[in-house]
Order: sequence, then C-alpha cells, then structure tokens
Amino acid sequence: MARLQFIHANKIYDGGVHALKDFCLDVPDKKFVVFVGPSGCGKSTALRMIAGLEKISSGDIYIGDRLVNGLPPKERNIAMVFQSYALFPNMSVYDNISFGLRMQGEDKEVIKEKVESVAQMLNLTEYLKRKPNQLSGGQKQRVALGRAIVRHPDIFLLDEPLSNLDAKLRAKMRSEILALHHRLGATFVYVTHDQTEAMTMGDIIVVMKGGCIMQTGSPKFLYRHPANKFVASFLGSPQMNFWDGELCITQRGMLVKTSVADFPIEGELALRFDKRAMIDGKRVTLGIRPEDISAHKSKDNDVEIALDIDVVEELCTHTVLHGKIDECEVVGFGTSGMDVKGERISLFANLDKIHVFDAESEESLMPQYAQKTTVKCAKCGDKLSILGGGVNLPQSIADAIGDGDMDVDVPIEAFKDGDIPLVCKRVLESENGAISLVEANGIQLYAKGDFSAQGTFGLDVSRLSICGSKTIGAVREVSVLKFGYVKRNEKENGKSVTKHFCVLNGDIEVESFYEFNKKMYRLGKDIFRKTYDMHVSINNVRLARENECYPTIDAIVCDVVDYGDKQYSLVALGEQTMYVEGLWAKGEKVRLAMDLDSVHVSEANNKTILF
Ligand code: ADP
Repeated sequence: MARLQFIHANKIYDGGVHALKDFCLDVPDKKFVVFVGPSGCGKSTALRMIAGLEKISSGDIYIGDRLVNGLPPKERNIAMVFQSYALFPNMSVYDNISFGLRMQGEDKEVIKEKVESVAQMLNLTEYLKRKPNQLSGGQKQRVALGRAIVRHPDIFLLDEPLSNLDAKLRAKMRSEILALHHRLGATFVYVTHDQTEAMTMGDIIVVMKGGCIMQTGSPKFLYRHPANKFVASFLGSPQMNFWDGELCITQRGMLVKTSVADFPIEGELALRFDKRAMIDGKRVTLGIRPEDISAHKSKDNDVEIALDIDVVEELCTHTVLHGKIDECEVVGFGTSGMDVKGERISLFANLDKIHVFDAESEESLMPQYAQKTTVKCAKCGDKLSILGGGVNLPQSIADAIGDGDMDVDVPIEAFKDGDIPLVCKRVLESENGAISLVEANGIQLYAKGDFSAQGTFGLDVSRLSICGSKTIGAVREVSVLKFGYVKRNEKENGKSVTKHFCVLNGDIEVESFYEFNKKMYRLGKDIFRKTYDMHVSINNVRLARENECYPTIDAIVCDVVDYGDKQYSLVALGEQTMYVEGLWAKGEKVRLAMDLDSVHVSEANNKTILF
C-alpha cells in the first residue's frame, strides 16, 4: 500500500498560528502510527495535511512515491474517519457505505458485492437498511469505517474516532480497529490525545507538543526510554515522579541529591550517563515511575524513601500510595490491603529504573546504552593491551603513537570475533537491534550484537580512537561535508545546457546528475540558498577511472592509515576532509569518483536526513 513521509513540513494558519513546526517523519508501509499529544499540539493539522484538507505552508508530504503537496484530496487515495462519524442522516447504512463508489460511477453489481463484503467484515449485515439515527454509537463508527474500507485507500486516517463512545465500547472498538488493520494490511494514521489508546494501538507513536515531534518509536521503547521529560510525563498513569536534584561527582561515580533521597549513579548507570553532563553541581531532574517504587526491598541497591502517606488508592490489581516528604510528592505502589493513611512508612525505589533529565533542556541524560566506552590500555611496540587481551596495531599507527598508558574509545561497532575472554551480562533490545552489555577484564561496556552465546571477542582497530602521544581517530565511516547547491548554464558542443553542482568549498565542486538533482528539487524552493550537509560513506567514494561516468572531484591526500589488511587515506577537499579506501602518498593530488546517488543529505548541522 503506502509509505508516508513528512519532510520538513510546516503549517502556519492565516492568523499566524504556527501549528506544525519542521515536521519530519517516515512511516513505513502497513504500520499503525499514532499521533498523540495534548489538545492543540497539531495532531489534527498533521492529519488534515495528509488528507489534503489543509495546505502545506512549506516542506513536502509523500504518499508512496507521490509528492502530494498540490494534489486535491480525492486524488490522494486516502480515506478519513472522523470523531463525529460524518454520516448522511437521511441515507441508509447501505447508501452511506456505497456513497463514494456511486460517486465514482462504479457498476451497481460491483458496489453491491463490495458493500456486502465490508458489512460482513464489520458485522453490519443486518443493519444495512437502517438510518444512522437507528444505530448505536459503536455501529455508527463501524459504518464510518466501512465507508473508508470500500474505497481501498492507501492510507486510513482516523481522527479521534472513539472519543464519542463510552469506555467499554471504546475498548471493544480499539481491538476491532486493530483487527481491521491487520486484515487490510494498509497504513493507518490515528490521532488521539489519550496516551492509553496510543500505547495500546500504535506500532509507532509520535509524541507531539506545540507543533513539534518530541519522540517517535514503539510504545514500549518510549515508555522505557523517554528522550525527554515531556515524553516521560505524558506516557504512563499514574505519572512518573519527578524530583529536583543536583549532581555530585563522587569517588565511585556520581550521586543525584534530591529532597526525597540520594541516588547513587555507579556501575552500569554511570556507564550509560552522558559524559558531557558529568559536571559537579549540575542541576538535574530525577524521574522514576510509581511502579518502580514498592513497599518491599527487593534489591540490595534499592533506595529507601521515608514518606508521610496521605492517600491510599486501592485498585483491583495494585494499591497506589501518595505521600509527601519535604513538600515533595511521591507516588509508589503498595501491597493490597495496606492501610497506612496518615502514617510515615518506607518505600523502596528500584535504582536500575531511574531516569535523569537535564533540569534546563529537559533532555534525558541516561540513554538506553552508551555508544562508546572509554577504557584504559597500555601500548608497547605494536601491541595494545586492552580489556584483558592483546590487539596488534598496524606498524604505521604503532610508530605514530608513543608507548605507555593511554585511553581508548571503544564504540559498540568495534566488536568482532577474536580471542579476548568476555562475559555477556545481558542483551538489550534496542531500536537498532540487539546490544549486549559485556564484561572483559572487570570492565563493562556495550557491544553491538547478541554476545550471549559468545565467550570471546576481538576488536576492529580501525574503529578505535586511541589517545596516545598523538590521537589516532577511528576511521570515519561516514564523513559530513557542507555544501551549497548551484545551477548554471554552460556551453556544451555549442549548445547551452543547465548543469547542477554541489559546491563544497569555493572552487571545489562536484557536478550532480539527474537522480541527485531530482531528490534536491523535492526539498523545496530554497535549495539554492540553503547550506546542506552531505553524509558520504567510505563506500560512496573511490579513485576515478579514465572516462569516469560518476561525478568526479579533486582532493589532496593529507594523512594515511595502514591497518595491514585495510588501508585508508584522509583526503582534503578544501577545508573539509573525508576518508577514502586506498593508500597514496601524503600531499598527492587524487581525482575521486563520488556516487552521489547513494549519499545522504540533511540541512547543515541538522541530523535529520532528508534523503
Ligand atoms: P490538536 O489536533 O492536537 O488538538 P490542532 O491541529 O487542531 O491540534 O491545532 C493546532 C493549533 O492550530 C492550535 O493552536 C489551534 O488553535 C490552531 N488551529 C487549528 N485549526 C486552525 C485554523 N483553521 N485556523 C487557525 N488556527 C487553527
């Protein structure tokens, strides 16, 4: 059916309300995506822009391969289901469902067949002759769904479709809509302000605030690893606890001091903590979900919280305790039948489940895992003693850095097969596949992949950054080059032709061809005025051949790295540099061929990839 893409889409209403800000989203085909956020955050605006009911102020929307910016609603092959059902009151259920098909001039017999099949799917067969006012709310909503389904749209758009129904019916309709999604295999976009609905229905949820996307991902991931305080507070009921805190650097790691308790950040928590934020005295917000605070101590490192209980909420499955300590509110879970109102009791917070947010930016300082870990090692000759094993350095690198103790940054991608012993502590499911927490020689670090069945590992030297007397950086797999985009007319065989170029640095330019130009033109009207970043992978560049068919560019070799089996040169394109596979002499001028069709482009200094 259809993939859905928003590329830097903006909506500014006539009155000046900026309802959707720089909206970038890529929904794969057949997914159920939910836009969720408080009232007024721009959910319906985003949905109406997909439908073509609102004009896009800037940016692009694609449905499948089609740029739909200028297409009228009826040419977009979408179907919309509204909260108010929008049924024709004077028409029967049959006529309501078949309305769109009749307008398209579909054959009567075909219409009958389609309507009957949809009616059966939605359990509406016995109501086909009724008028909407003779139906219940749930039945009306099913008619509205039926009217969408008969049209076989690429994308179903549902705007708070269940908010007029009572709680029980809502739950039932939720599962009916999910079953329908499963059966139809189409892309569904669903708008709701109800976080429970979002959490239970979406493959992907898009949490929005003030016209901006706060985080996108699976419900489970967002719940467990909120990227900021807003997402943390919006998802989950009762809400996550938040307490003001201050970071203190200690001998064993860090401590977040709050009025409720002090929370040590050591071991794995410290490993995950954003290194740039490890500043003594930094103001932070500590977050922990109520279900991670319980009446019983279950782990040695649980943090005890003594509080005065003022409300006990006895629910069927659990008991929620509300209390205070030093004017700070604390919500935790008790055991059933706990009658502690008015008492001072101790609860225990599961330290492994805490979140720490920057008090100013509100961004999370503790991601799910660390991208790289700095470990101590010793270098002697061409041997690096690291993590209890030895790694051979290529001669050129061994010569470049002096012997002695030094720090090495080990990114998660550096792990490969080898003979250094390891213990796999656990494997986490991340949005980018399995990530293992491994221990080698008493040091814990994260590794990409599932190491649960592996007892040893090796390290890819080209991925390491070694900080010796000279820092040898990991070979940059992807280089980011700034460029401006220009077009000009040039004479070719006596004729004037329009050519396009990416200008990297004054006089250093690379001509771009059809595919790349097509992708650039999709980015809007300002392409010749803006600066972009080109993300070039090592595989996108090689030495140019004679009569090269790819675009070429001249560069100067400024450094070489020889790993024995693999060799790289760092080349300069004016002031910018990138790595290329191959070994040439320093200072040599090389002509490179670039596969521009495979590079990625973002706006300058913005990580969001546009193509
Ligand atoms: P949501 O669906 O999340 O409740 P909307 O998309 O309806 O939010 O609205 C986003 C913002 O745009 C709000 O501030 C709203 O007042 C404003 N808005 C919505 N529709 C219009 C309109 N037709 N004209 C001007 N402002 C509008």
